Amino acid sequence: MDLILLGAPGAGKGTQGALLAERLGIPKTATGDMLRDAVRQGTPLGREAKRYMDAGELVPDEVILGMVRERLSQPDAAAGAIFDGYPRNAAQAESLGRMLAELGRSIDAVVSIDVAEEAIVQRMTGRRTDPETGRVYHVVHNPAPAEVQGRLVQRDDDREETVRHRLEVYRTTTEPLVAYYRASGVPLHTVDGDRPIEQVQGEILELLGNDASARP
Ligand code: AMP
Repeated sequence: MDLILLGAPGAGKGTQGALLAERLGIPKTATGDMLRDAVRQGTPLGREAKRYMDAGELVPDEVILGMVRERLSQPDAAAGAIFDGYPRNAAQAESLGRMLAELGRSIDAVVSIDVAEEAIVQRMTGRRTDPETGRVYHVVHNPAPAEVQGRLVQRDDDREETVRHRLEVYRTTTEPLVAYYRASGVPLHTVDGDRPIEQVQGEILELLGNDASARP
């Protein structure tokens, strides 16, 4: 199954994608995570990408395309992938369609996770990561244990100004993909992401289950 998670940055795509990956046994393919790995490793790609990421801008499509192509060629992605944070614009959506077609596949479903903008700003600016375990916490909603507090870091692009810019980029460039996929006839579901994680996950699984039973 190839599944796209759409939604603003901070809507919960990463969290829901990780749960779905476990549940469905197909890997989560998060271009943001791949880029952050490249930045950490200091590769030429990472150095180029960092400038865009810190500014809240999209990294150029060719860079993303190369990364996703490489990821899809790995054996664990042979039966499908859960795309998180990708595609981000119409050109990326077109190239993903072509890449999957080359593999004899196509997008099976799109899930758009909706969260009000102010709630997102709160979520993202309060987000903190433990660099040792990769676990993500929130200063108000999900505080880290005391022994971890001292080493928590904030993603460079989670500062308020950058968050607001990322949301604007989402609105103008990525959100139109909802209409794009709706017009293309792919099953498209919208879920309210402003609810507890398990509830959102339950609804997504139910919607995908209904798709599967509707398939010939
Ligand atoms: P994310 O973790 O998905 O919020 O991505 C963090 C940042 O990485 C974004 O603000 C972009 O700068 C960059 N990025 C991630 N995915 C993409 C993509 N598909 N196309 C362009 N830039 C991306």
